[in-house]
Formats: sequence, structure tokens, C-alpha cells
Amino acid sequence: MKKIIITIDGWSSCGKSTLAKHLAKSLGYVYIDSGAMYRAITLYFLRNHIDWTDLEKTSEALKHVELHFIYNQKSLQSEMYLNDENVEYFIRDLVVAEKVSEVATIAAVRTYAVAQQQKMGEGKGIVMDGRDIGTTVFPEAELKIFMTADILIRVERRFKEMFIKNPNVTFDEVKHNLETRDYIDSNREVSPLRMATDAILLDNTLMTMEEQLDFALKLVANKL
Ligand code: C5P
Repeated sequence: MKKIIITIDGWSSCGKSTLAKHLAKSLGYVYIDSGAMYRAITLYFLRNHIDWTDLEKTSEALKHVELHFIYNQKSLQSEMYLNDENVEYFIRDLVVAEKVSEVATIAAVRTYAVAQQQKMGEGKGIVMDGRDIGTTVFPEAELKIFMTADILIRVERRFKEMFIKNPNVTFDEVKHNLETRDYIDSNREVSPLRMATDAILLDNTLMTMEEQLDFALKLVANKL
């Protein structure tokens, strides 16, 4: 059966990765969370006190960053490895979330991440979610979805997720983080968050996961 590239872009905490995972599983495709890569780079910079406003230091630091995903048979998830360490837990922290969009504005960081993402898509049969996947990483992708949802619904979803890990986190902190990231992501110079002209909009504010998957699978069927 013909394999295609499916891109899912959109605002923070719209449920992109949840849909992407379900879609990949239904199709037997590989799921790649491009945001995890930007988060892992940010974690490396924070841990090593890299001044990412300094181009030379950033480029040098990136030479010491090695990223890969390993599928965990127990959790049935692909997990992010930074220099052979499983960093899946740390990259979801608010400390990383508060800096990742700043780091993701840097051209050298994006060039580094995009090159790896494009390599991962060489064999097709991939669902990748992020902010610039349909516009920059795979402009020729066969199917592009752009996701949105009501901001309060998004905050509520992310707050519930974060609260389990850290009961000190507040609703307002999470709301501020999502709004700040959306602002930085859509206003940066390099590959700002945009809906590709050939993307299909999916507003999942009032949709169940099953309805979203059904919607996406119908789009895939039309493409195959
Ligand atoms: O998807 P996630 O929320 O984990 O992404 C974290 C951050 O990484 C985003 O807010 C954005 O700043 C950056 N990102 C990006 N381009 C992508 C994926 C994520 O700039 N393709």
C-alpha cells in the first residue's frame, strides 16, 4: 500500500500529539513528536548554561547534542533520548516549557532540528506533529492538518496533565505559558507557525478523540 507523509501543525496543547499517535497507530506509521526535539535541545542548553543568544556558543553546543527516539514496549510510546539519556520526563516540565519557544526562534537550532526531521521522513509512512511541519519540514506532504481549539479548553487539558506531575502548578501559569508560546511561535522570523495554504483545518474544541480520528482517517482514505 502507498505510504504518505502526514503533517499535523497547530497551536500549543490542541491535542496534536494525541491525534498523531492514534493516527500513526491505525495506519501502522511512525509517529514523530518534533516538539520533543526542541524541548530536548532546550533541556541541554539549560543544564549546560548555554547562552543561546550567542550564535557561536549555540552552534558549538549543538555539536554535542545527539537526539533520537526509542520505542518503549511497555508504555507503547516513542520516547526522546538526549545523548543516550531518556529525557521524556524532564522535557515536559514547566521549566523547559517556559524557555523552549525562545530557543526555537534560533535559526541554527531550527536548521539542526529540521534536517533530522526531514531524514526521518525519507521512507514516508510518517505522522509528524509540530508548528512548521507542513510549511517548512515537508512542504510536499500529501496530507496536512492544522489544529486549533478554544484557549480555555487547551489550558484545561494541559493543566490536568501537568498537575499530575506537579500539584504546585497553577491554571494561570499554564494559561500564560500557552499564550506566550503561541505568540512567540507565530511571530518568530524563521518558520513562524502558520497554517499551510493546502492544510485542512481541524477545530477539536467540541470533538471526541474518536471523532477526530475518524475525520483524519477519512482524509487519509481520500489521499490513498
Ligand atoms: O509541541 P510542543 O508543545 O511540545 O512544542 C514545544 C515548543 O517547541 C513549541 O511551543 C515551539 O516553540 C517549538 N516547536 C517548534 N517547531 C516545531 C515543534 C515545536 O518551534 N515543529
